[in-house]
Amino acid sequence: MQGTGMGALAVILLATQTKFFSKKYEIDDMKDISEFSELKFCASIMFRACVIMSSNCFSIQQEPGIISGSGLYVAHSLYNHSCAPNTFRHFEGLTMITRALTPIHVGEQIFTSYGGVYAHMPRFERKQKILQDYFLDCDCPACENDWPMYNEILRSHIGSISKNKQLVEKLKPFRERLLANMYDIEAVKAVLDILHKEVSKHPCEEILHAEQYLKSYYLDP
Ligand SMILES: [Zn+2]
Repeated sequence: MQGTGMGALAVILLATQTKFFSKKYEIDDMKDISEFSELKFCASIMFRACVIMSSNCFSIQQEPGIISGSGLYVAHSLYNHSCAPNTFRHFEGLTMITRALTPIHVGEQIFTSYGGVYAHMPRFERKQKILQDYFLDCDCPACENDWPMYNEILRSHIGSISKNKQLVEKLKPFRERLLANMYDIEAVKAVLDILHKEVSKHPCEEILHAEQYLKSYYLDP
């Protein structure tokens, strides 16, 4: 594990290259540190700090899809994980911005994706990644109900509202606004608001489509 390696290396360097401990240790002493309580104590703290750090860091993607590093974003670490999150993240410089993807009401949890989202990564890959990186067995709705991916939802019109005439009619003015101005992002937000009020079965083709539109507005300006 990366955290173990970093913690061990830090203790070895401190012990053999500095006067941090009560004495300067020889590299041979590092083969078995069980007799040296100060090294054992320090190694356990280092290990804990490294694991906490690696589990709470986010990839920094100033350009979508290009990871330029990782950073500790304390507020964002408080979010729970879901493969069907109600938020998405993007960067402005090194500042990470979280935006709502669905209406989030007072008292509801905020979810972000620690790994892949259901629409773009197969279920077994997501579960494997989350387990490996965060020691979690994901039980989000997408994993529990094995939601299909983006292409399958669009190809088979899964959860489509197109036969719900009343709802289609309600969305018409927003469709017209978007036809007149494809950058009218407030129209997309209004569509999502209406769809989330009216649709109870997920996944839904039109919700997924509107979410993709909203994300691409901020991710591919
Ligand atoms: Zn999941």
